[in-house]
Amino acid sequence: MAKRIGMLGGTFDPVHIGHLRSALEVAENYALDQLLLIPNAQPPHRGTPQVSAQQRLEMVQLAVAGTEVLSVDDRELHRDKPSWSIDTLLSLRAELHQQDQLLLILGWDAFCGLPSWHRWDELLEHCHILVLQRPDADIEAPQVLQDLVAAKSVSGPQTLQGPSGQIAFVWQTPLAISATQIRQLLATQRCVRYLVPDAVFKYIDAHQLYQER
Ligand code: ATP
Repeated sequence: MAKRIGMLGGTFDPVHIGHLRSALEVAENYALDQLLLIPNAQPPHRGTPQVSAQQRLEMVQLAVAGTEVLSVDDRELHRDKPSWSIDTLLSLRAELHQQDQLLLILGWDAFCGLPSWHRWDELLEHCHILVLQRPDADIEAPQVLQDLVAAKSVSGPQTLQGPSGQIAFVWQTPLAISATQIRQLLATQRCVRYLVPDAVFKYIDAHQLYQER
């Protein structure tokens, strides 16, 4: 039987419960065999993260420990070039059977930025795209994406057919939490407990991360 694998890439600077609840709900609601959280090495679309890639990775590992359907994939950290999603998709595809479904999971803000991604128009050849609503992201999709959605979207994730090529929207518990908000809280000596898993909270505290110097 074909497997269904999800991938949620991100800077995870740091990982928070907005990422984690969305990932877990997608995995459970749409019967994923595995959902991979994939931290970026050198984010192509943004500045250098404030903590090391290794620290971001360790926080994601702590966050998913004990949740079997969620796992961390560190392949982008072993590359010495920018973390292009097309490369990650191709390398994951190479490990799967032809009929396995690969679901690229993107928050609405990330989806709206898709046309600036390297070889973005090839992505759907290798995966389906699942778009998560984000209550804190008030952005409109460019026309080229509106056209793509009109051509490729299906009524919901349950109706995705085949290994790749379609777009579905996920309507689930929205959590208006961003890593930016967490970094800002920490920079002003506020407490981020309950916005991140306890293990991540303790890690940030132990390593004094995101403090303004
Ligand atoms: P930042 O505030 O630094 O931009 P972020 O919170 O958006 O960070 P990323 O690591 O950039 O986190 O996000 C990785 C992926 O998770 C993106 O596709 C993003 O849209 C999605 N995402 C992040 N936060 C949420 C949330 N609260 N709900 C749904 N999706 C989210």
